[in-house]
Amino acid sequence: MNSFWKIAVIGSGPAGFYAAGELFRQKSWEIKVDMFDRLPTPFGLVRGGVAPDHQKIKSVTKIYTRIAENENFRFFGNVEFGRDIFQADLLEHYDGMIYSVGSPADRSLGIPGEDLSGSHSATEFVAWYNGHPDFRDHKFDLSVKHAFVIGMGNVALDVARILAKTADELAKTDIADYALKELRKSQLENIWLVGRRGPLQAAFSPAELREFLELPDADVLVEADALELDAESQQILETLASNDTKKNIEILKQISARDASGKKRRVRFLFLASPVEISGNDKVEKISMVRNQLVKQEDGSLRPQATENKIEEEAGLIFRSIGYHGKPLTDLPFDKKSGTIPNECGQVKDTENGNVLRNREYVAGWIKRGPNGVIGTNKQDAVETVHRMLETFLNEKMEAGKNDVNPDIVSLLENRKVDFFSFADWLLLDAHETEAGQKLGRPRTKLTSVAEMLEIIRKKS
Ligand SMILES: Cc1cc2nc3c(=O)[nH]c(=O)nc-3n(C[C@H](O)[C@H](O)[C@H](O)COP(=O)(O)OP(=O)(O)OC[C@H]3O[C@@H](n4cnc5c(N)ncnc54)[C@H](O)[C@@H]3O)c2cc1C
Repeated sequence: MNSFWKIAVIGSGPAGFYAAGELFRQKSWEIKVDMFDRLPTPFGLVRGGVAPDHQKIKSVTKIYTRIAENENFRFFGNVEFGRDIFQADLLEHYDGMIYSVGSPADRSLGIPGEDLSGSHSATEFVAWYNGHPDFRDHKFDLSVKHAFVIGMGNVALDVARILAKTADELAKTDIADYALKELRKSQLENIWLVGRRGPLQAAFSPAELREFLELPDADVLVEADALELDAESQQILETLASNDTKKNIEILKQISARDASGKKRRVRFLFLASPVEISGNDKVEKISMVRNQLVKQEDGSLRPQATENKIEEEAGLIFRSIGYHGKPLTDLPFDKKSGTIPNECGQVKDTENGNVLRNREYVAGWIKRGPNGVIGTNKQDAVETVHRMLETFLNEKMEAGKNDVNPDIVSLLENRKVDFFSFADWLLLDAHETEAGQKLGRPRTKLTSVAEMLEIIRKKS
Protein backbone atom coordinates (compact mmCIF):
# COMPACT_ATOMS: atom_id res chain seq x y z
CA MET A 1 0.00 0.00 0.00
CA ASN A 2 1.09 3.53 -0.78
CA SER A 3 2.31 5.15 2.44
CA PHE A 4 1.90 8.67 1.09
CA TRP A 5 -1.20 10.67 1.95
CA LYS A 6 -2.44 12.18 -1.28
CA ILE A 7 -4.17 15.51 -0.96
CA ALA A 8 -5.86 17.48 -3.74
CA VAL A 9 -5.95 21.27 -3.35
CA ILE A 10 -8.46 23.00 -5.61
CA GLY A 11 -7.46 26.62 -6.21
CA SER A 12 -3.91 28.02 -6.28
CA GLY A 13 -4.45 31.33 -4.49
CA PRO A 14 -2.86 32.22 -1.15
CA ALA A 15 -5.11 29.82 0.82
CA GLY A 16 -4.25 26.86 -1.43
CA PHE A 17 -0.52 27.54 -1.22
CA TYR A 18 -0.53 28.12 2.55
CA ALA A 19 -2.42 24.82 2.93
CA ALA A 20 0.15 23.00 0.77
CA GLY A 21 2.99 24.61 2.74
CA GLU A 22 1.49 23.50 6.05
CA LEU A 23 0.97 19.94 4.74
CA PHE A 24 4.65 19.77 3.77
CA ARG A 25 5.72 21.07 7.22
CA GLN A 26 4.35 17.94 8.93
CA LYS A 27 7.38 15.88 9.96
CA SER A 28 5.51 12.74 10.89
CA TRP A 29 3.34 12.59 7.77
CA GLU A 30 4.39 11.70 4.25
CA ILE A 31 2.24 13.85 2.02
CA LYS A 32 1.88 14.48 -1.70
CA VAL A 33 -0.07 17.48 -2.91
CA ASP A 34 -1.70 17.90 -6.33
CA MET A 35 -2.96 21.45 -6.83
CA PHE A 36 -5.55 22.28 -9.50
CA ASP A 37 -6.54 25.67 -10.88
CA ARG A 38 -9.00 26.62 -13.58
CA LEU A 39 -6.44 29.07 -14.99
CA PRO A 40 -3.06 28.03 -16.40
CA THR A 41 -1.45 30.66 -14.14
CA PRO A 42 -1.21 30.14 -10.37
CA PHE A 43 -1.60 32.55 -7.40
CA GLY A 44 -5.28 33.56 -7.60
CA LEU A 45 -5.94 37.17 -6.65
CA VAL A 46 -2.24 37.90 -6.15
CA ARG A 47 -2.04 37.89 -9.95
CA GLY A 48 -5.64 38.81 -10.76
CA GLY A 49 -6.71 41.10 -7.88
CA VAL A 50 -3.79 42.92 -6.19
CA ALA A 51 -3.35 46.26 -7.95
CA PRO A 52 -0.67 46.45 -10.67
CA ASP A 53 0.98 49.43 -8.92
CA HIS A 54 1.41 47.32 -5.75
CA GLN A 55 4.23 45.13 -6.99
CA LYS A 56 5.89 44.67 -3.58
CA ILE A 57 2.83 42.80 -2.31
CA LYS A 58 3.07 40.41 -5.26
CA SER A 59 6.54 39.28 -4.13
CA VAL A 60 4.70 36.90 -1.75
CA THR A 61 4.60 34.57 -4.78
CA LYS A 62 8.30 33.78 -4.08
CA ILE A 63 7.12 31.95 -0.95
CA TYR A 64 4.52 30.04 -2.99
CA THR A 65 7.12 29.15 -5.62
CA ARG A 66 9.35 27.65 -2.91
CA ILE A 67 6.40 25.51 -1.76
CA ALA A 68 5.86 24.40 -5.36
CA GLU A 69 9.50 23.29 -5.57
CA ASN A 70 8.79 20.49 -3.08
CA GLU A 71 9.32 17.17 -4.89
CA ASN A 72 5.93 15.97 -3.66
CA PHE A 73 4.05 18.88 -5.25
CA ARG A 74 2.39 18.92 -8.67
CA PHE A 75 0.44 21.75 -10.29
CA PHE A 76 -2.35 21.13 -12.77
CA GLY A 77 -3.31 24.49 -14.25
CA ASN A 78 -6.14 24.91 -16.78
CA VAL A 79 -8.13 22.23 -14.93
CA GLU A 80 -11.49 23.38 -13.62
CA PHE A 81 -13.33 21.61 -10.84
CA GLY A 82 -16.91 21.10 -12.08
CA ARG A 83 -15.83 21.13 -15.76
CA ASP A 84 -12.73 18.92 -16.13
CA ILE A 85 -12.66 17.08 -12.80
CA PHE A 86 -15.38 16.31 -10.32
CA GLN A 87 -15.77 15.41 -6.70
CA ALA A 88 -16.14 11.69 -7.56
CA ASP A 89 -12.75 11.76 -9.35
CA LEU A 90 -11.07 13.35 -6.37
CA LEU A 91 -12.66 10.92 -3.93
CA GLU A 92 -11.23 8.08 -6.04
CA HIS A 93 -7.73 9.45 -6.35
CA TYR A 94 -7.06 11.26 -3.11
CA ASP A 95 -7.27 10.76 0.64
CA GLY A 96 -8.42 14.30 1.23
CA MET A 97 -9.37 17.47 -0.62
CA ILE A 98 -9.03 21.12 0.27
CA TYR A 99 -11.22 23.49 -1.74
CA SER A 100 -9.68 26.98 -1.77
CA VAL A 101 -11.49 28.49 -4.75
CA GLY A 102 -11.97 32.03 -3.37
CA SER A 103 -15.04 34.25 -3.82
CA PRO A 104 -15.15 35.31 -7.47
CA ALA A 105 -18.68 36.83 -7.60
CA ASP A 106 -19.74 40.27 -6.42
CA ARG A 107 -22.56 41.74 -4.39
CA SER A 108 -25.15 43.86 -6.10
CA LEU A 109 -26.59 47.16 -4.85
CA GLY A 110 -30.19 46.10 -5.45
CA ILE A 111 -31.25 49.47 -6.86
CA PRO A 112 -33.06 50.40 -10.11
CA GLY A 113 -30.83 50.96 -13.11
CA GLU A 114 -28.01 48.79 -11.83
CA ASP A 115 -28.01 46.74 -15.03
CA LEU A 116 -27.68 49.71 -17.38
CA SER A 117 -24.68 49.75 -19.67
CA GLY A 118 -21.88 51.61 -17.87
CA SER A 119 -22.72 50.13 -14.46
CA HIS A 120 -20.15 47.48 -13.52
CA SER A 121 -18.82 45.58 -10.57
CA ALA A 122 -15.36 46.43 -9.29
CA THR A 123 -14.65 42.68 -9.61
CA GLU A 124 -15.06 42.98 -13.38
CA PHE A 125 -12.90 46.10 -13.71
CA VAL A 126 -10.13 44.77 -11.44
CA ALA A 127 -10.01 41.45 -13.32
CA TRP A 128 -9.95 43.37 -16.64
CA TYR A 129 -7.04 45.66 -15.78
CA ASN A 130 -5.16 42.71 -14.26
CA GLY A 131 -5.46 40.65 -17.46
CA HIS A 132 -7.71 37.85 -16.18
CA PRO A 133 -8.51 35.76 -19.30
CA ASP A 134 -12.26 35.69 -18.54
CA PHE A 135 -12.46 39.50 -18.51
CA ARG A 136 -10.08 40.63 -21.27
CA ASP A 137 -12.92 41.33 -23.71
CA HIS A 138 -14.99 43.42 -21.31
CA LYS A 139 -15.53 47.03 -22.33
CA PHE A 140 -15.52 50.13 -20.14
CA ASP A 141 -16.48 53.48 -21.64
CA LEU A 142 -13.66 55.72 -20.51
CA SER A 143 -14.77 58.53 -22.81
CA VAL A 144 -17.17 59.74 -20.07
CA LYS A 145 -16.31 62.49 -17.58
CA HIS A 146 -17.76 61.24 -14.28
CA ALA A 147 -17.17 57.88 -12.59
CA PHE A 148 -18.60 56.73 -9.27
CA VAL A 149 -17.04 53.99 -7.14
CA ILE A 150 -19.55 52.78 -4.59
CA GLY A 151 -17.83 51.50 -1.46
CA MET A 152 -15.00 52.61 0.81
CA GLY A 153 -12.83 49.53 1.19
CA ASN A 154 -9.34 48.91 -0.17
CA VAL A 155 -10.67 47.48 -3.44
CA ALA A 156 -12.74 50.66 -4.02
CA LEU A 157 -9.59 52.72 -3.39
CA ASP A 158 -7.63 50.54 -5.85
CA VAL A 159 -10.25 51.16 -8.55
CA ALA A 160 -10.35 54.93 -7.93
CA ARG A 161 -6.55 55.16 -7.89
CA ILE A 162 -6.13 53.22 -11.15
CA LEU A 163 -8.73 55.52 -12.77
CA ALA A 164 -6.97 58.61 -11.38
CA LYS A 165 -3.39 57.73 -12.26
CA THR A 166 -1.74 58.87 -15.47
CA ALA A 167 -1.05 56.34 -18.19
CA ASP A 168 2.68 57.06 -17.83
CA GLU A 169 2.55 55.98 -14.21
CA LEU A 170 0.57 52.84 -15.07
CA ALA A 171 2.96 52.03 -17.92
CA LYS A 172 5.60 51.15 -15.28
CA THR A 173 3.38 48.41 -13.82
CA ASP A 174 2.21 45.01 -15.05
CA ILE A 175 -1.27 46.29 -15.94
CA ALA A 176 -2.69 44.45 -18.98
CA ASP A 177 -1.57 46.07 -22.25
CA TYR A 178 -5.13 46.47 -23.57
CA ALA A 179 -6.17 48.19 -20.31
CA LEU A 180 -3.23 50.57 -20.50
CA LYS A 181 -4.18 51.44 -24.08
CA GLU A 182 -7.77 52.22 -23.04
CA LEU A 183 -6.78 54.12 -19.88
CA ARG A 184 -4.37 56.23 -21.94
CA LYS A 185 -7.42 57.57 -23.84
CA SER A 186 -9.46 58.15 -20.66
CA GLN A 187 -11.44 61.40 -20.57
CA LEU A 188 -12.41 61.04 -16.90
CA GLU A 189 -12.40 64.25 -14.91
CA ASN A 190 -14.22 63.34 -11.70
CA ILE A 191 -13.89 60.11 -9.75
CA TRP A 192 -16.19 59.89 -6.77
CA LEU A 193 -15.76 57.45 -3.89
CA VAL A 194 -19.07 56.99 -2.11
CA GLY A 195 -19.39 55.50 1.39
CA ARG A 196 -22.67 54.91 3.17
CA ARG A 197 -21.06 55.47 6.55
CA GLY A 198 -18.74 58.15 7.94
CA PRO A 199 -14.94 58.42 7.81
CA LEU A 200 -14.66 56.68 11.18
CA GLN A 201 -16.30 53.54 9.79
CA ALA A 202 -14.41 53.45 6.47
CA ALA A 203 -12.88 50.04 5.80
CA PHE A 204 -9.79 51.20 3.88
CA SER A 205 -6.33 51.08 5.40
CA PRO A 206 -4.13 54.15 6.00
CA ALA A 207 -1.43 52.89 3.62
CA GLU A 208 -3.95 52.77 0.75
CA LEU A 209 -5.44 56.15 1.67
CA ARG A 210 -2.04 57.85 1.94
CA GLU A 211 -1.35 57.08 -1.73
CA PHE A 212 -4.02 59.63 -2.64
CA LEU A 213 -1.78 62.37 -1.24
CA GLU A 214 0.78 61.52 -3.89
CA LEU A 215 -1.26 61.46 -7.11
CA PRO A 216 0.60 63.74 -9.54
CA ASP A 217 -2.29 64.52 -11.86
CA ALA A 218 -5.37 64.38 -9.63
CA ASP A 219 -6.62 66.71 -6.90
CA VAL A 220 -8.17 64.86 -3.98
CA LEU A 221 -11.11 66.39 -2.17
CA VAL A 222 -13.00 65.60 1.05
CA GLU A 223 -15.92 67.69 2.23
CA ALA A 224 -14.68 69.47 5.34
CA ASP A 225 -18.11 68.86 6.97
CA ALA A 226 -17.54 65.13 6.78
CA LEU A 227 -14.63 65.46 9.18
CA GLU A 228 -16.58 67.48 11.72
CA LEU A 229 -17.49 64.57 13.93
CA ASP A 230 -20.58 64.61 16.11
CA ALA A 231 -20.06 64.13 19.87
CA GLU A 232 -20.73 60.39 19.66
CA SER A 233 -18.22 59.86 16.85
CA GLN A 234 -15.63 62.10 18.52
CA GLN A 235 -15.90 60.00 21.67
CA ILE A 236 -15.46 56.80 19.64
CA LEU A 237 -12.42 58.30 17.94
CA GLU A 238 -10.82 59.17 21.27
CA THR A 239 -11.66 55.99 23.12
CA LEU A 240 -12.49 52.99 20.95
CA ALA A 241 -11.09 53.68 17.49
CA SER A 242 -8.22 51.54 16.22
CA ASN A 243 -4.86 53.08 15.34
CA ASP A 244 -5.71 52.59 11.66
CA THR A 245 -8.92 54.61 12.04
CA LYS A 246 -7.05 57.39 13.85
CA LYS A 247 -4.47 57.46 11.06
CA ASN A 248 -7.23 57.53 8.43
CA ILE A 249 -8.78 60.60 10.07
CA GLU A 250 -5.39 62.34 10.17
CA ILE A 251 -4.80 61.65 6.46
CA LEU A 252 -8.32 62.77 5.52
CA LYS A 253 -7.69 66.02 7.43
CA GLN A 254 -4.49 66.53 5.44
CA ILE A 255 -6.45 65.95 2.24
CA SER A 256 -9.22 68.35 3.20
CA ALA A 257 -6.70 71.07 4.13
CA ARG A 258 -5.45 71.11 0.56
CA ASP A 259 -6.97 73.29 -2.13
CA ALA A 260 -7.73 71.93 -5.58
CA SER A 261 -4.92 73.05 -7.86
CA GLY A 262 -6.50 72.59 -11.28
CA LYS A 263 -5.11 69.15 -12.00
CA LYS A 264 -6.56 67.09 -14.83
CA ARG A 265 -8.69 64.90 -12.55
CA ARG A 266 -10.41 65.12 -9.19
CA VAL A 267 -11.01 62.30 -6.73
CA ARG A 268 -13.85 63.18 -4.36
CA PHE A 269 -14.52 61.31 -1.13
CA LEU A 270 -18.23 61.43 -0.35
CA PHE A 271 -19.15 60.04 3.07
CA LEU A 272 -22.63 59.31 4.48
CA ALA A 273 -24.32 58.80 1.10
CA SER A 274 -26.02 55.79 -0.53
CA PRO A 275 -27.02 55.38 -4.16
CA VAL A 276 -30.77 54.81 -4.60
CA GLU A 277 -31.13 54.86 -8.39
CA ILE A 278 -29.05 54.80 -11.52
CA SER A 279 -30.79 56.24 -14.57
CA GLY A 280 -30.28 56.91 -18.24
CA ASN A 281 -31.81 56.02 -21.60
CA ASP A 282 -29.75 53.09 -22.78
CA LYS A 283 -26.71 53.73 -20.59
CA VAL A 284 -25.80 55.30 -17.25
CA GLU A 285 -26.38 59.06 -17.27
CA LYS A 286 -27.25 59.96 -13.69
CA ILE A 287 -26.88 58.68 -10.15
CA SER A 288 -29.32 59.57 -7.37
CA MET A 289 -28.16 59.25 -3.78
CA VAL A 290 -29.53 59.95 -0.32
CA ARG A 291 -27.63 61.47 2.51
CA ASN A 292 -27.36 59.27 5.59
CA GLN A 293 -27.06 60.02 9.26
CA LEU A 294 -25.48 57.73 11.80
CA VAL A 295 -27.87 56.34 14.38
CA LYS A 296 -26.80 54.61 17.58
CA GLN A 297 -27.96 50.98 17.83
CA GLU A 298 -28.80 48.98 20.95
CA ASP A 299 -25.38 47.32 20.85
CA GLY A 300 -23.75 50.79 20.85
CA SER A 301 -22.65 50.70 17.20
CA LEU A 302 -23.47 53.51 14.77
CA ARG A 303 -25.47 52.57 11.67
CA PRO A 304 -26.34 54.72 8.63
CA GLN A 305 -29.95 55.75 8.18
CA ALA A 306 -31.32 57.58 5.11
CA THR A 307 -32.39 61.21 5.55
CA GLU A 308 -34.69 63.30 3.31
CA ASN A 309 -31.64 64.96 1.82
CA LYS A 310 -31.04 63.85 -1.79
CA ILE A 311 -28.13 64.29 -4.20
CA GLU A 312 -28.21 63.85 -7.98
CA GLU A 313 -25.09 63.84 -10.11
CA GLU A 314 -24.24 63.31 -13.72
CA ALA A 315 -22.54 59.91 -14.10
CA GLY A 316 -21.12 57.92 -16.99
CA LEU A 317 -19.50 54.98 -15.23
CA ILE A 318 -20.42 53.27 -11.98
CA PHE A 319 -18.40 50.60 -10.18
CA ARG A 320 -19.97 48.85 -7.23
CA SER A 321 -17.37 47.71 -4.74
CA ILE A 322 -19.42 46.50 -1.82
CA GLY A 323 -17.92 43.06 -1.37
CA TYR A 324 -17.13 39.79 -3.05
CA HIS A 325 -19.25 36.63 -2.79
CA GLY A 326 -18.53 32.91 -3.20
CA LYS A 327 -20.03 30.69 -5.92
CA PRO A 328 -21.38 27.19 -5.27
CA LEU A 329 -19.23 24.21 -6.30
CA THR A 330 -20.82 21.11 -7.86
CA ASP A 331 -21.56 18.44 -5.20
CA LEU A 332 -20.65 20.65 -2.28
CA PRO A 333 -23.01 22.27 0.20
CA PHE A 334 -23.28 26.06 -0.05
CA ASP A 335 -24.57 28.80 2.20
CA LYS A 336 -26.14 31.35 -0.15
CA LYS A 337 -26.27 34.11 2.42
CA SER A 338 -22.60 34.15 3.36
CA GLY A 339 -21.41 32.79 0.00
CA THR A 340 -19.29 30.16 1.74
CA ILE A 341 -19.12 26.37 1.98
CA PRO A 342 -20.44 25.51 5.47
CA ASN A 343 -17.64 24.14 7.62
CA GLU A 344 -16.37 23.60 11.12
CA CYS A 345 -12.76 24.77 11.42
CA GLY A 346 -12.37 24.04 7.70
CA GLN A 347 -14.07 20.62 7.71
CA VAL A 348 -16.98 20.62 5.25
CA LYS A 349 -20.34 20.39 6.98
CA ASP A 350 -23.41 18.94 5.21
CA THR A 351 -26.04 21.35 6.48
CA GLU A 352 -28.74 19.59 4.42
CA ASN A 353 -27.78 16.32 5.99
CA GLY A 354 -28.00 16.92 9.73
CA ASN A 355 -24.75 18.89 9.86
CA VAL A 356 -22.74 15.73 9.20
CA LEU A 357 -19.03 16.49 8.83
CA ARG A 358 -17.36 15.12 5.70
CA ASN A 359 -14.12 13.43 6.74
CA ARG A 360 -12.26 13.88 3.49
CA GLU A 361 -13.39 17.32 2.31
CA TYR A 362 -12.08 20.62 3.65
CA VAL A 363 -12.07 24.31 2.74
CA ALA A 364 -9.61 27.18 3.20
CA GLY A 365 -9.47 30.91 2.46
CA TRP A 366 -12.34 33.10 1.24
CA ILE A 367 -14.65 30.19 0.36
CA LYS A 368 -14.26 29.05 3.99
CA ARG A 369 -14.60 32.30 5.96
CA GLY A 370 -15.94 34.82 3.43
CA PRO A 371 -14.16 37.56 1.47
CA ASN A 372 -12.25 39.39 4.16
CA GLY A 373 -8.70 39.82 5.35
CA VAL A 374 -5.37 40.37 3.65
CA ILE A 375 -3.17 37.76 1.97
CA GLY A 376 -1.51 36.84 5.29
CA THR A 377 -4.89 36.16 6.95
CA ASN A 378 -5.19 33.09 4.73
CA LYS A 379 -2.13 31.53 6.35
CA GLN A 380 -3.59 30.99 9.81
CA ASP A 381 -6.87 30.06 8.14
CA ALA A 382 -5.21 27.32 6.03
CA VAL A 383 -3.14 26.09 8.97
CA GLU A 384 -6.33 25.56 10.98
CA THR A 385 -7.84 23.58 8.10
CA VAL A 386 -4.79 21.36 7.65
CA HIS A 387 -4.60 20.57 11.38
CA ARG A 388 -8.29 19.75 11.44
CA MET A 389 -7.85 17.44 8.46
CA LEU A 390 -4.90 15.54 9.92
CA GLU A 391 -6.58 15.22 13.34
CA THR A 392 -9.66 13.79 11.61
CA PHE A 393 -7.56 11.30 9.65
CA LEU A 394 -6.05 10.12 12.96
CA ASN A 395 -9.30 10.07 14.94
CA GLU A 396 -11.12 8.19 12.17
CA LYS A 397 -8.21 5.75 11.87
CA MET A 398 -8.05 6.39 8.15
CA GLU A 399 -5.28 4.80 6.09
CA ALA A 400 -3.12 6.55 3.52
CA GLY A 401 -3.72 5.66 -0.11
CA LYS A 402 -6.83 3.61 0.58
CA ASN A 403 -8.85 5.54 -1.97
CA ASP A 404 -6.11 5.85 -4.51
CA VAL A 405 -7.00 4.12 -7.76
CA ASN A 406 -4.50 3.27 -10.42
CA PRO A 407 -3.72 4.81 -12.84
CA ASP A 408 -2.78 8.31 -11.76
CA ILE A 409 -4.95 11.44 -12.19
CA VAL A 410 -2.74 12.35 -15.19
CA SER A 411 -4.26 9.50 -17.21
CA LEU A 412 -7.74 10.68 -16.32
CA LEU A 413 -6.92 14.21 -17.50
CA GLU A 414 -5.30 12.90 -20.67
CA ASN A 415 -8.30 10.67 -21.40
CA ARG A 416 -10.54 13.68 -21.02
CA LYS A 417 -8.22 15.65 -23.33
CA VAL A 418 -7.59 18.33 -20.72
CA ASP A 419 -4.59 20.41 -21.82
CA PHE A 420 -3.14 20.92 -18.35
CA PHE A 421 -0.33 23.26 -17.40
CA SER A 422 2.45 22.10 -15.02
CA PHE A 423 4.38 24.32 -12.62
CA ALA A 424 7.38 24.00 -14.96
CA ASP A 425 5.13 25.36 -17.73
CA TRP A 426 4.19 28.27 -15.47
CA LEU A 427 7.89 29.00 -14.76
CA LEU A 428 8.51 29.18 -18.53
CA LEU A 429 5.54 31.51 -18.97
CA ASP A 430 6.70 33.59 -16.00
CA ALA A 431 10.16 33.97 -17.58
CA HIS A 432 8.56 34.85 -20.92
CA GLU A 433 6.37 37.56 -19.33
CA THR A 434 9.14 39.05 -17.19
CA GLU A 435 11.68 39.13 -20.03
CA ALA A 436 9.17 40.83 -22.33
CA GLY A 437 8.26 43.32 -19.57
CA GLN A 438 11.80 44.15 -18.56
CA LYS A 439 12.68 45.22 -22.10
CA LEU A 440 10.05 47.95 -21.58
CA GLY A 441 11.03 48.81 -17.99
CA ARG A 442 8.00 46.95 -16.61
CA PRO A 443 7.86 44.09 -14.06
CA ARG A 444 6.20 41.88 -16.70
CA THR A 445 3.84 42.06 -19.64
CA LYS A 446 1.01 39.66 -19.00
CA LEU A 447 -0.38 37.17 -21.43
CA THR A 448 -4.14 37.31 -21.06
CA SER A 449 -5.49 34.61 -23.35
CA VAL A 450 -5.41 30.95 -22.31
CA ALA A 451 -4.94 29.85 -25.95
CA GLU A 452 -1.95 32.17 -26.30
CA MET A 453 -0.43 30.90 -23.03
CA LEU A 454 -0.77 27.29 -24.15
CA GLU A 455 0.66 28.04 -27.58
CA ILE A 456 3.73 29.84 -26.23
CA ILE A 457 4.46 27.12 -23.68
CA ARG A 458 4.01 24.27 -26.11
CA LYS A 459 6.53 26.02 -28.42
CA LYS A 460 9.05 26.53 -25.59
CA SER A 461 8.86 23.13 -23.94
C1 LIG B 1 -9.13 43.49 -5.85
C2 LIG B 1 -8.42 42.90 -4.67
C3 LIG B 1 -7.22 43.45 -4.26
C4 LIG B 1 -6.56 42.90 -3.16
N1 LIG B 1 -5.39 43.47 -2.78
C5 LIG B 1 -4.74 42.98 -1.71
C6 LIG B 1 -3.52 43.56 -1.30
O1 LIG B 1 -3.03 44.53 -1.91
N2 LIG B 1 -2.90 43.02 -0.20
C7 LIG B 1 -3.42 41.96 0.48
O2 LIG B 1 -2.81 41.49 1.46
N3 LIG B 1 -4.59 41.40 0.12
C8 LIG B 1 -5.26 41.87 -0.96
N4 LIG B 1 -6.44 41.31 -1.33
C9 LIG B 1 -6.97 40.15 -0.58
C10 LIG B 1 -6.34 38.82 -1.04
O3 LIG B 1 -6.19 38.82 -2.43
C11 LIG B 1 -7.20 37.62 -0.56
O4 LIG B 1 -7.16 37.60 0.87
C12 LIG B 1 -6.73 36.28 -1.08
O5 LIG B 1 -6.40 36.28 -2.44
C13 LIG B 1 -7.78 35.17 -0.82
O6 LIG B 1 -7.18 33.94 -1.12
P1 LIG B 1 -7.96 32.64 -1.62
O7 LIG B 1 -6.89 31.64 -1.88
O8 LIG B 1 -9.04 32.30 -0.67
O9 LIG B 1 -8.69 33.05 -2.99
P2 LIG B 1 -8.15 33.49 -4.42
O10 LIG B 1 -6.93 34.32 -4.32
O11 LIG B 1 -9.31 34.07 -5.12
O12 LIG B 1 -7.75 32.12 -5.15
C14 LIG B 1 -8.72 31.20 -5.59
C15 LIG B 1 -8.15 30.37 -6.74
O13 LIG B 1 -9.08 29.31 -7.06
C16 LIG B 1 -9.20 29.16 -8.46
N5 LIG B 1 -10.50 28.56 -8.75
C17 LIG B 1 -11.72 29.10 -8.58
N6 LIG B 1 -12.70 28.23 -8.94
C18 LIG B 1 -12.07 27.11 -9.35
C19 LIG B 1 -12.53 25.85 -9.84
N7 LIG B 1 -13.84 25.57 -9.99
N8 LIG B 1 -11.61 24.91 -10.20
C20 LIG B 1 -10.27 25.16 -10.06
N9 LIG B 1 -9.80 26.34 -9.59
C21 LIG B 1 -10.68 27.29 -9.23
C22 LIG B 1 -9.06 30.58 -8.98
O14 LIG B 1 -8.66 30.60 -10.36
C23 LIG B 1 -7.97 31.15 -8.05
O15 LIG B 1 -6.68 30.91 -8.58
C24 LIG B 1 -7.12 41.81 -2.44
C25 LIG B 1 -8.34 41.28 -2.86
C26 LIG B 1 -8.99 41.81 -3.96
C27 LIG B 1 -10.30 41.22 -4.40
